[in-house]
Amino acid sequence: KSEAAAMRSKPNILITGTPGTGKTTTSSALAEATHLRHINIGDLVKDKKLHDGWDEELQCFIINEDLVCDELEDIMEEGGNIVDYHGCDFFPERWFDRVVVLQTENSVLYDRLVQRGYAGAKLRNNIECEIFQELLEEAKESYKEEIVVAMKSNTVEDMNKNVTVITQWVSSWVSAT
Ligand code: ADP
Ligand code: MN
Repeated sequence: KSEAAAMRSKPNILITGTPGTGKTTTSSALAEATHLRHINIGDLVKDKKLHDGWDEELQCFIINEDLVCDELEDIMEEGGNIVDYHGCDFFPERWFDRVVVLQTENSVLYDRLVQRGYAGAKLRNNIECEIFQELLEEAKESYKEEIVVAMKSNTVEDMNKNVTVITQWVSSWVSAT
């Protein structure tokens, strides 16, 4: 474990991936199984107004990354967090013990995003983001490769398996403290 990791008794996990790959659903199930704290960055940004206004074109809040990092510093140091966000390059590297990148087949992701009301450029951009594995690249550029894991998230069975695998990893991390 790194020096930062040695300071916490429970690990911090980042669940990332293109919108629609199942970050929030997976994180909630994982929080239930592990009793770690689920932090949905999108909700946090909205609730605590950690943004610089609304982006009309992309139809989302313009996240203020510095405010988000300041807001989370203490509880990340404490450990035991599951952070859920479709980006990963602005968090301090020392925060995370595991970075999970969820991946979904195009046709499946397309249907999920349409269901969510995405259309036009927003839909296209997200499908492209998944095709080019942008989040996996971003994760590998931002964290040590050995802590980055890609997981398939096409079906409910995939999700259940992912939750089981990560829960086992949490248990072994905690007992190795
Ligand atoms: P994200 O937080 O990454 O945007 P969500 O967790 O909100 O994604 O999931 C988007 C939609 O897809 C939800 O309706 C959810 O129930 C569904 N979903 C997510 N992951 C899976 C999966 N592995 N199998 C089937 N449906 C899934
Ligand atoms: Mn989400």
